[in-house]
Amino acid sequence: SIMPATLSAISNGARHGILFKGGVHLENLSHLKAIAFDKTGTLTKGKPEVTDIIAADGLSKNEILRIASSIESHSTHPLANAIVKYAKENLEESLIHPESIEDVAGWGVKAHIENEEWKIGKAAFVGIEAAQSFKDGAAAKMASEGKTVVFVQKSEEIVAILALQDVVREETKKAIDQLNNQGIYTIMLTGDSRNTGMAIAKESHVHDYIAECLPENKVEHLKNLQEKYGTVAMVGDGINDAPALATANVGIAMGEGTDVALETADIVLMKNDLPRIAEAINLSRKMNSIIK
Ligand code: ADP
Ligand code: MG
Repeated sequence: SIMPATLSAISNGARHGILFKGGVHLENLSHLKAIAFDKTGTLTKGKPEVTDIIAADGLSKNEILRIASSIESHSTHPLANAIVKYAKENLEESLIHPESIEDVAGWGVKAHIENEEWKIGKAAFVGIEAAQSFKDGAAAKMASEGKTVVFVQKSEEIVAILALQDVVREETKKAIDQLNNQGIYTIMLTGDSRNTGMAIAKESHVHDYIAECLPENKVEHLKNLQEKYGTVAMVGDGINDAPALATANVGIAMGEGTDVALETADIVLMKNDLPRIAEAINLSRKMNSIIK
């Protein structure tokens, strides 16, 4: 049976936009030592926008955008959606139908158009060295501003980069500062590049970050954190985050996250309101001291 103090804490939480799926999660929260955050859609708003297109010399930006958006229209990734939206707003030409298309989760998209192979995605997807040397390291400069860089490759040759900017949520810094002050170790896990990860981590005030995480690596990193710290929470919003949310001692989903994240999580932040996490921890610590 549920203790009155627990019940009161759960209903208190609900009134403040924190949904606990059971009393045990409050108990776990009171022992929390570390908390891992997904980047896109969790620390950031998750609505990236295209800010720059840099094409190789002699190539048309518009033609590259047309092909890139044609390919990305077959992906549901937030970066893909942003590229398609940008093309709709800035191009008159209609989309092309690729002959083949392959969405490679955590890497990018591969397609064939008129017998040419196209790849759109992260540096490791098109070759790190070529990616780094494209236009004298243009990608590194964009990434150090916190932008996500997407490479466009045509038949083994990088023909352009697209930079996309996603903004850190207004309340992120405050939320992380509160957790840091509570003595909790904060870390960001992202599939994005090291430079982009560093810029967003710095802006968010997390203690540390791990970049270039493949979706399956997030679970591994969580297990490492559990070994090192004990009770660990994960905060995320995406389908990709679900395995890590399930692995964490406390899985926390953003209220506007995907259904799978909401179902898997133990706690839901109904209004995506990150500062509620520190509040929930306070609540759980108080509750624990009443019960004991
Ligand atoms: P995150 O954890 O940041 O949400 P993902 O694991 O989904 O990232 O993807 C990691 C990286 O792979 C992205 O930052 C991007 O560079 C690349 N990528 C993945 N899918 C796509 C896509 N559809 N179009 C372009 N790039 C992509
Ligand atoms: Mg996300």
